[in-house]
Amino acid sequence: MNTEDIKKAEEKYFINTFTRQPIVLDKGHGTVVYDIEGNKYLDFFAGIAVNNVGHTHPKVVNAIKKQAEKLIHISNIYYNKPTIELGEKLVKLSSFDKVFFANSGAEANEGAIKLALKYTGKNEIIATNNSFHGRTIATLTATGQDVYKKDFTKSLPQGFKHVPFGDIESIKNEITDNTAAILIEPIQGEGGVNIPPKGFFEELSKICEENNILLILDEVQTGLGRCGTMFAHELFDVKPDIMTLAKALGGGVPIGAILTTNEIATGFNPGDHGTTFGGGPLICAAASATLDAIVEEDLVENSKNMGDYFKNKLLNLKDKYDLITEVRGYGLMIGIELTQPCGEIVNDLREKGFLVNCTAGKVLRFLPPLIISEEEINQLIDALDEEFENLS
Ligand SMILES: *Cc1c(COP(=O)(O)O)cnc(C)c1O
Repeated sequence: MNTEDIKKAEEKYFINTFTRQPIVLDKGHGTVVYDIEGNKYLDFFAGIAVNNVGHTHPKVVNAIKKQAEKLIHISNIYYNKPTIELGEKLVKLSSFDKVFFANSGAEANEGAIKLALKYTGKNEIIATNNSFHGRTIATLTATGQDVYKKDFTKSLPQGFKHVPFGDIESIKNEITDNTAAILIEPIQGEGGVNIPPKGFFEELSKICEENNILLILDEVQTGLGRCGTMFAHELFDVKPDIMTLAKALGGGVPIGAILTTNEIATGFNPGDHGTTFGGGPLICAAASATLDAIVEEDLVENSKNMGDYFKNKLLNLKDKYDLITEVRGYGLMIGIELTQPCGEIVNDLREKGFLVNCTAGKVLRFLPPLIISEEEINQLIDALDEEFENLS
């Protein structure tokens, strides 16, 4: 099957949910992927901030191979070593005490919402405009973007309120005796790489403590080195009560995680929450190898250094072109806001051999693997320079 055949088969057999880019990817190593026609792409998208350790990292591949030959699935009714080992590793890497493994970001958030409601016995969650928390009914309700939920509004659950991202006063106004938690991304991803104002999370942390409200940080996209720190909330002086992870955790295989304190974990008793697949041995072996690679290869440090380098280069482009109105981000989660939609730029760059993403209409978003080098960043900068020159 060639590219055209595959596109036709997809159209014929698949429920139409994705606007896919017109290339068929076949293999990848590190920061590079190839399509079935042999074209090479430098990946500045990393499968939506998933491939933080790069494509087909040898440690991850070996862990999957070894575990696949031993045991793939047994359910959470029994113990298995890779799951418990990953749990211990992740808890020690974070400032939390307890973990629960799910299969995706949405599912981790769904469980975090349940835990907050159950632990507090209250029934309201405050979320933010332009947020993204997933596609399940509850996480869709929490998501602050009408495009995703406009066709379902009459069937969405009660109890979710929205406030502008970074606006302390609005949050204060929405707090009631029924407020269980605030659910928020440290830096909004799909919403356009939106950075909170200085001091926001410090203030939010205080307000949550004073009002006995849980702070749930959705670090599904920002976690595990993406923002130049292991977890993005380390950028601020903030103490979350619950944190969710997913995207980068499995090195490419599906996994989500809820992390919390010993105290809040008492909200769940056996039977209150569960999953058939979540935290299975195969996935956890891959995630364990992924965490090892992030730590042993100093990828958090590289994310910070390369992020600073990348951002400076982008700021130079901003000085040169009026088309760029803002460059923002931490580590290797960077967005540049343009005066025009960026869909066509994504297509042009792909044809030049670069995978980038457009989000929130006018924000070009860069989420490369954390192993990216200065030389590779320079290649993209040159291509962007050429592109903006043509558009100006
Ligand atoms: C991607 C994302 C999710 C949803 O994750 P899925 O694995 O697609 O369910 C939730 N929250 C944030 C911040 C995300 O970026």
